[in-house]
Amino acid sequence: MIRVHDTLQRKKVELEPRRPGQLGFYVCGPTVYNFIHLGNARAFVAFDVAVRHLRARGLQVTYVRNVTDIDDKIIKRAHELGEDFAALTRRFTAAFHEDMKSLCCLAPDFEPRVSEHLGEIVRLIERLIERGVAYSSAGDVYFSVGDFPAYGELSHQPLDQLEAGARVEVPEERAGQKRAPLDFALWKAAKPGEPSWPSPWGPGRPGWHIECSAMAEKYLGDAFDLHGGGIDLAFPHHENERAQSLGAHGAGSFARYWLHNGFVNFNGGKISKSDESQKILFDRAFRLRVLVERHGGEAVRAFLLTTQYRNPIGFEVIADGDDVRTAPLRFPGLEEAERRLEYGYLTLERLAGALSIGKAAGEGPVAKEAESWLATFQEALDDDFNTAEALAAQGEALALCNRILDGKLDAPKDVRRRTLEKLQRDLTQAAGELGLLEAEPESWLSAHRARQCAARKIDAAWVDAQIAERTQARGQKDFARADALRDQLKHAHIEIMDTPRGTTWRVAD
Ligand SMILES: [Zn+2]
Repeated sequence: MIRVHDTLQRKKVELEPRRPGQLGFYVCGPTVYNFIHLGNARAFVAFDVAVRHLRARGLQVTYVRNVTDIDDKIIKRAHELGEDFAALTRRFTAAFHEDMKSLCCLAPDFEPRVSEHLGEIVRLIERLIERGVAYSSAGDVYFSVGDFPAYGELSHQPLDQLEAGARVEVPEERAGQKRAPLDFALWKAAKPGEPSWPSPWGPGRPGWHIECSAMAEKYLGDAFDLHGGGIDLAFPHHENERAQSLGAHGAGSFARYWLHNGFVNFNGGKISKSDESQKILFDRAFRLRVLVERHGGEAVRAFLLTTQYRNPIGFEVIADGDDVRTAPLRFPGLEEAERRLEYGYLTLERLAGALSIGKAAGEGPVAKEAESWLATFQEALDDDFNTAEALAAQGEALALCNRILDGKLDAPKDVRRRTLEKLQRDLTQAAGELGLLEAEPESWLSAHRARQCAARKIDAAWVDAQIAERTQARGQKDFARADALRDQLKHAHIEIMDTPRGTTWRVAD
């Protein structure tokens, strides 16, 4: 049984697809006006694992993640940079795709762009006007919150409470007039010089919320199963999406379950306006790319998955020096995640090496420890995608591999071999569900080593030359020279490993 925490019902519930065996899943994608940060990345990684696991459980998932390429923030940024609006969105859409790739996120089945769905958006707005829950005013169109009694249900805020809060908000300057403070824009009339698209209400652009309603409907139908996004989107974005779609199609339409991921708390989440040094650190570590360059995208993903997606996760940034503007930065959470990945890939490499020799064990018993960990792993993911527990189960399986490879499992040879074969299959399955440890160990380990060398200013060519000299010395039985070279490398934090396939090396911690 798969259970998910539904924000609307405020509890964990059994996931029941509307159509047996199939699931429609919509995730709010990026607004492409800047590079994404770790907080954005968390949502995409969290729901990527959800999609992978649901598919592994045999469900046919249609995964839709949009690109918001028409929005006020984009207009503002294009203006600031003096860059063409469309060129800016193309640039950041491409950057987003690179970031998703580095985080090992699967491509969605559909990735609709707002700029290609103006027709659907305009039709949905027309329908809302026809049904009496929206009105136009001087080129703008607004959703009439007072005509939609279910407003506030998703974010659990009674309408009167919201109305009281809305009055203190500074009203956005627009051509049209809202009838009530909570009403929100579905269509915004263009001001001079702004990019615009034609509509029955004159040239303008859609509001952010209506874009998602229209695109979800187009690819998943009026009613679908799962809707995901960061908790910061629950209000007003998702509340408004829901109001629009239910307003157009009636109760029971749109998403059945609402999944929200928690925040990434930077240095304990205590950045105040007065703390200048924390603000500088935050800016320096803000872009996901800074973190990926340093530790690799898979380590960022592994870090994000150490906590179940709904819980907040703490992200620590340390300046290694007095001047926070220039001191090298350290990210202990990512260092730890990269270490764990290195351990995983070294284990997988070792496992593949051991299994490449000799022949398969055939049918028969395996060690008890290897029997049930994958079930534990998958049950953890069934339970609202508890990646923290799933990672723990995977970690135990890797440790078991090493125990067997170290000759520490007391079992007949064929049982040991069969157990390793099963571990290899099951670890591959787990890797596919988490999107971790899926790379070729050799290529990941060499990229990892290159990052370590860059960070510690180690010359890899020098290390290779020392190792070649040591191999030669050993060949000539000059063991004193060989040992001296090993010690010299050790002093330079290089650990060398003699394997059946030759001598390899890694940067020691
Ligand atoms: Zn959305």
